Amino acid sequence: MAGLRPPRAELGDLVPYEAKEPTVETNLSANENPLNLPHEVIATIAARLPEFAFNRYPDPMSGTLRTAIAEANGLDAGNILVGNGGDELIFDLMLAWGGPGRKLLNVPPTFAMYGLDARMTGTEVVEVPRNAKDFSIDEKAVLARVKEGDIDIVMIAHPNNPTGNLQPETFLIDLLEATDALVLVDEAYFEFSRHTMRPHMARHRNLVILRTFSKAFSLAGLRVGYLLAHEEVITELAKVRQPYSVDRFSQWVAGMVFRERVVFESQIQELLRQRDVVEHGLGQLPGVHAFGSEANFVLFRVDRASAVWRDLLHSYGVLVRDLSREPGLEDCLRVSIGSSKDNKRFLEAMAELMASRRESDMFGTTGVAQHPAENPVAGPGHASEKKGRRK
Ligand code: PMP
Repeated sequence: MAGLRPPRAELGDLVPYEAKEPTVETNLSANENPLNLPHEVIATIAARLPEFAFNRYPDPMSGTLRTAIAEANGLDAGNILVGNGGDELIFDLMLAWGGPGRKLLNVPPTFAMYGLDARMTGTEVVEVPRNAKDFSIDEKAVLARVKEGDIDIVMIAHPNNPTGNLQPETFLIDLLEATDALVLVDEAYFEFSRHTMRPHMARHRNLVILRTFSKAFSLAGLRVGYLLAHEEVITELAKVRQPYSVDRFSQWVAGMVFRERVVFESQIQELLRQRDVVEHGLGQLPGVHAFGSEANFVLFRVDRASAVWRDLLHSYGVLVRDLSREPGLEDCLRVSIGSSKDNKRFLEAMAELMASRRESDMFGTTGVAQHPAENPVAGPGHASEKKGRRK
């Protein structure tokens, strides 16, 4: 037979993630650390590489790394699950606590993977939108909704991506008390915000915390994230996870990075200083509104944001994230904090673009941005322009 049955109906209009490696000069679109691993760590990897057992399967539960993370957090190894980036762990949570007939409570605009993973696993999504002005969570509405008793899992990015804000800890505690649903507090940007719900784990069996090596620890390329949770939660997640999803090399390097994590402290402090520079710089530009951030990126609103995004890319080689088509994020762009050189370039480009806009508004000219018809990075099918994933 020559036919092909259609896949699951849920895949309908989902768009696959196009993993383009943008050849742009200044990539401020993925909230990565602008610096590679410290030289000491790279030198150690290089020196020990010849003895590395590439031929052996990895430890399915990342034992050595798991123990190190547990010790640093005052927990047992049974409270830790290492995954192939935070993304995999979010998917595992949805596989185990979501699924057909079950419900995720989501507070958009937020990290796109929560809603996408819900769709992929046939989980119903109940949305309680954030406040349109400052992106705070509608606390009353969330508490009232979970009290109805039918929510199975709640996901809250803390700080939120892409808006950058934290919700008061008192709300998260109230939420944990109001429901027995599993509550993911996604602390992917913890090293920048320094806010953690870790102290509340002892009282709340339904609290799960997510962290990642992709942001502060310069390991986005290797894919390592981890959960802190009660042992019974980890046991359930271990049933649905891919046994060898975290490869030996990534476990080894992440272990080394975790042991040496103090060396990242000065970089983190520098990124926080740079975040102030970017927030302040954007705040100086007429027509631009920057939202305060507790992470390594800044969300800002500007009229005709998609045109600004295009001009930044084509005229200046600066790639930021266009969120302007997402509900609640109309005219919003997100810029990741890069090196001081990257940030300066971005701010100068923004200043020029806004000045040329004012000029063209006054004199009816077209302004600076002449861009080629062909977009080298993001043609009409670029992921940022479609409904789909993103970092
Ligand atoms: N959570 C949030 C809020 C994020 O922004 C990201 C990355 N963009 C992740 C989780 C996942 O990160 P990774 O898979 O690289 O660990």
